[in-house]
Amino acid sequence: MSSAAPLAAPPAPRFAQVALPLPLRTLFSYHIPDELLGLCRPGGLVLVPFGKGTRQGIVWELSDEAAWSGGEIKPLADLLGEEPVLDEAQRHLVDWMARYYLHPIGLTAWTALPPWVEGERKLRAVWLGSARPAEKSQALERIPANLRELAAAVAQRSHGLLDSTLAGKFGRPGLERRLRQLAAGGWLALEEQWSVPEGGRRRERPLVEELPLTPPPRLNDEQQICVETIRHALERRRFAPFLLHGVTGSGKTEVYFQAVETCLAQGRQALLLLPEIALTPQLAGRFRARFREGLALFHSGQSESRRREEWLRVKRGEAPVVAGARSALFAPLERLGLVVVDEEHESSYKQEEGLPYHGRDMALVRARRAGAVVVLSSATPSLESLANAASGKYALLRLTRRATGAPMPRVELSDLTQATREKRLIPGHLLGPDLTSAMEETLAAGRQVLLFLNRRGYAPALLCPRCGFSFQCPHCSVALTYHATPHPSLRCHYCDFRQPARDVCPRCGQQSLSRFGPGDQRLEKEVRERFPEARCARLDRDSVASGGAGAMEDILEQFAEGTFEILLGTQMVAKGHHFPGVALVGVVLADLGLNQPDFRAAERTFQLTAQVAGRAGREDVSPGRVVVQCHDPSHYALRAALSQDVERFRQLEEPLRREAGFPPFGRLALIRFSCEDRAAGELFKSRTRGWMPQVPGVTWLGPVESPLFKLRNWFRWQILVKEAAGGRRLHGALEGFLALATAESGPVRLEINVDPQSFQ
Ligand code: ADP
Ligand code: ZN
Repeated sequence: MSSAAPLAAPPAPRFAQVALPLPLRTLFSYHIPDELLGLCRPGGLVLVPFGKGTRQGIVWELSDEAAWSGGEIKPLADLLGEEPVLDEAQRHLVDWMARYYLHPIGLTAWTALPPWVEGERKLRAVWLGSARPAEKSQALERIPANLRELAAAVAQRSHGLLDSTLAGKFGRPGLERRLRQLAAGGWLALEEQWSVPEGGRRRERPLVEELPLTPPPRLNDEQQICVETIRHALERRRFAPFLLHGVTGSGKTEVYFQAVETCLAQGRQALLLLPEIALTPQLAGRFRARFREGLALFHSGQSESRRREEWLRVKRGEAPVVAGARSALFAPLERLGLVVVDEEHESSYKQEEGLPYHGRDMALVRARRAGAVVVLSSATPSLESLANAASGKYALLRLTRRATGAPMPRVELSDLTQATREKRLIPGHLLGPDLTSAMEETLAAGRQVLLFLNRRGYAPALLCPRCGFSFQCPHCSVALTYHATPHPSLRCHYCDFRQPARDVCPRCGQQSLSRFGPGDQRLEKEVRERFPEARCARLDRDSVASGGAGAMEDILEQFAEGTFEILLGTQMVAKGHHFPGVALVGVVLADLGLNQPDFRAAERTFQLTAQVAGRAGREDVSPGRVVVQCHDPSHYALRAALSQDVERFRQLEEPLRREAGFPPFGRLALIRFSCEDRAAGELFKSRTRGWMPQVPGVTWLGPVESPLFKLRNWFRWQILVKEAAGGRRLHGALEGFLALATAESGPVRLEINVDPQSFQ
């Protein structure tokens, strides 16, 4: 037994470096007043004087010396709660992100911070003395004069009071400190409460229906090997990244469920990241059936108070399994053992606005720090992850067969150009002859059809056939999309501008305008006309918005149960679903995404086509059927999707990427600058060349107008910065540019996006 005498605690540091939610890339130094010494800890929320007022901030570091010598160091105004709002692991992640994405530290911290923290924490003060008037005033007499009025206010109410009521009268700064002094003197008791915001408590459909507990299925050999391998890694309790590449329906979910169970048995926590769009009630139901109360779920359809409750359950250690979209990455997990990134190839893991972070990449950063195992999972992994697996950076796990025993679907390409030439496709129609006859056969056999067209609305343009006039968004440089339902309108898919559609050309007076190009509302109309007997539903952002809360859940559920025969729609129908009755999948226009100004266009087309094809015949004995309509059936992305052959696609795509120096063979950053005043933007643009440091290995491309030149009335330009893989100078070069450009930016908004996923 150790008999060491307790050591005297070292003196508490006197200065705090505080992160403030401002677009500045520095921490701010404050002096810690005596009464807060020792209470003020990293991660704590504080109130600080700033400019003429006060602001909330987060203590980032403590030090014995001020980190700033530029002038007077002011004291912290108050401490808002004793519990840190960001723990050590969260702060590490924020630090990392702020550096990697060259983003202001305070704004990065605020992205990680649960939104209700600000102003939502309440302190309940309870008078401990007698309630009888005479005794009460005697007690108040003994309280120091500067605290007496506050004590009297508390004592006035027998059930205590919340500091929001006090704040109006006594002012927020220092209030908590004075309450704490009263509590220390034994005059009152303080309890911290996380308050539910009053009013506005939105009624919401539960995302998860109560389900019977499902016993786990017996794993097949391939699954067994994957689970064993992950288990061994978990036992070593060290960072270990895996790429789980399993064909659609191969039972990947079951693999990581069992890995999660091992992790929980070790007393550690697990995080499951999913693309927002894949987080359907069906999937959430599977999670709940397995982890019950141990599951905390985060998704965008949730009310703030629900999110808060879930967050607190995680923080209190009641929910060791966290599932959610990108932002679940910031959950307060202190014993993280396993991170799963489902559909790791999804570009929606990248946030493009605000803090432009990639959820998958940051999951790796978080896991490395925590000594956790990471499983990136997909039927169509990204080229980046495939390259990391090929180089041995990730261990590769493979599932090559469907878990239900169903064979992989048969995919056929249907050439629309040829059908048009042979006059077998009616001009303006979307369903070609092959797809139509496949639909007839499938419906006749009593099976279901899923149709995918990745464009909402009726037609992407309304044109005058006489003078060529087309309707443009007044705020963006794009054509307005024609929507036929709920009433004819023209809408901007970027800024949501809307106007009623009229059938007269405003320029030449022509009476009937042509609705040009594909859209899923047009598809719906055509399907209803061709198959009047079949019941059909459309699922896209518009139908969800007009159908009200629960519309998407209802449609997906009813289709899974076989209530109707045809489901058509955008990406929403393509992802992750398990529909047992679907025997035919039709990809209505597979090459729609190929002509985007984006080097990943082919990869996305391949992934999307292979993913949606994977919805066919998931439980059938005979293979499901997939008809992929396209204009260019010789395109390598479509040919690879035909066999759902990821390796083949990789072999065809990699040489192109290597030659261009694009990921995974190079790193990119996109510098975007935008301005409401076009001339000021042009002037800034003309000066950018002078700010680009010439660093070996770093290439500057641009400045050029962004493909989407005007967005919400802002004019936009961009510079693409490129560095060969393995280089270490990209960040330095960007820093150099930023230092010069920021100083001159004036009305210009300057943003840096490291590892961009969108180039519009
Ligand atoms: P993936 O995520 O790879 O697309 P899922 O995990 O959704 O595949 O599994 C597809 C189907 O196979 C689900 O219905 C699942 O319940 C079932 N399944 C998974 N593992 C097994 C197994 N070992 N035996 C039988 N069915 C399984
Ligand atoms: Zn617009």
